[in-house]
Amino acid sequence: MKTLLSETRIRSAVESLARQLNEDYQRRPLTIIAVMTGSIVFMADLIRLLHMPLRVGVVQASSYKAGTVRGKLTINAEMMPDIREHDVLLVDDIFDTGHTLTEVVRLMQELGPTSIRTAVLLHKQGKQEVALRPDYVAFEIPDEFVVGYGLDYQDEYRNLGYIATLEPSDIA
Ligand code: 5GP
Ligand code: MG
Repeated sequence: MKTLLSETRIRSAVESLARQLNEDYQRRPLTIIAVMTGSIVFMADLIRLLHMPLRVGVVQASSYKAGTVRGKLTINAEMMPDIREHDVLLVDDIFDTGHTLTEVVRLMQELGPTSIRTAVLLHKQGKQEVALRPDYVAFEIPDEFVVGYGLDYQDEYRNLGYIATLEPSDIA
């Protein structure tokens, strides 16, 4: 495993993202919806730096059923609060092909929010297969499989404080 982003770098990127959100939303009430499970650590750090009246909810979307190979996408929105006529910020760990966030945005749009924006911790360069561009991106990263700071490989490594790339020997 090789460290890609240290705790210090993540910390300062999350702080500058929070400054940007505080600036953009001011005191407007905001509903943050985190895409489970990879974004839990990112969300926990981010929300503590935000100053507007805040509601927090989660939506479950999973496509990685077996290691690093992309499977069928399933979305479970049962744990999400009512977002009708609310400003919504959808938070996810990583924007890879973009299919996950595109589908979640489409589903949420049907529920009548006042506005919906997206924030991602990581954006993989050159992988996108969709028209959607995340509104906020903390880091651009190369096309490598990463773990840590919430991101898993077969449900492990989410508790790392930093982000690392997995070597082929780690995956074997
Ligand atoms: P997309 O639909 O954009 O291709 O994939 C987004 C989802 O796939 C992310 O929310 C994340 O759960 C998972 N994913 C994509 N790339 C990686 C990666 O490098 N590492 C991990 N752990 N998950 C990833
Ligand atoms: Mg995810």
